[in-house]
Amino acid sequence: MGMNESEVYQLLNLAEDYVLDGFRHDHPPLVTGPSPQQILDHIARQVAGCTRCTLHLERRQTVSGEGAIDPLVMVIGEGPGAEEDRSGRPFVGRAGQYLDRWLAAVGLDRKTNCFIGNIVKCRPPGNRDPLPEEAAACLPYLERQIEILKPRAILTVGRIATQILCGRSEGIGQLRGKALDYLGIPVVATYHPSAVLRNTDLRPAVWEDLKRLRALPVLIRSLGGGPADSPAGSPDAQPERSSSTS
Ligand code: URA
Ligand code: SF4
Repeated sequence: MGMNESEVYQLLNLAEDYVLDGFRHDHPPLVTGPSPQQILDHIARQVAGCTRCTLHLERRQTVSGEGAIDPLVMVIGEGPGAEEDRSGRPFVGRAGQYLDRWLAAVGLDRKTNCFIGNIVKCRPPGNRDPLPEEAAACLPYLERQIEILKPRAILTVGRIATQILCGRSEGIGQLRGKALDYLGIPVVATYHPSAVLRNTDLRPAVWEDLKRLRALPVLIRSLGGGPADSPAGSPDAQPERSSSTS
């Protein structure tokens, strides 16, 4: 029978919605208490079959996000690029490898204590900014992920992610350094790693932002150390060192 991949996913999702939610309370769920991992997997499958905006037309793979199920920090970018679209994983290209080094500099990584996601889960063609209607169509997935993951803090990278998550309209230069929040979760905004790779003058600002993240009261006990610089954390150390391989 002629069902395409999206239709198959949609059918499976419908069945799964029914089992997990009882079609939103028309009757009690048949299975109680799905684990956070099960709910995240469910969201990823919904995303894989999603046709809510036209970005689904040109994607190779959706990129739902990945990381720790009980993260200290959720990192949010704007949307998949070419390598993410090919691999189905967030921030795996050059900018992503740079991002990993920023995180490592303050004791964070995507396996143990961070979850990394994006505003839109499908690649905008040619890496253009996602349109407001695309971001709006996709945002419920991110909102649900945050609700399940309950990160203690959020790091937004770049103007788009910060504006959309926090409902702001200023540029990233104005937004970084501000005390922002998403439903009570503190948000630290910084530049996008791609921008910093292009313009190394932005490095000191990123380092300041990372130190502010590490010094948040909700994180300071888990990450240890404060904003006071250890030698390893000097501005010449981690996030500012440009890649020698590229
Ligand atoms: N840039 C983003 O904003 N997100 C990714 O996942 C990769 C690059
Ligand atoms: Fe659906 Fe988001 Fe992809 Fe648009 S970008 S098709 S809303 S998953």
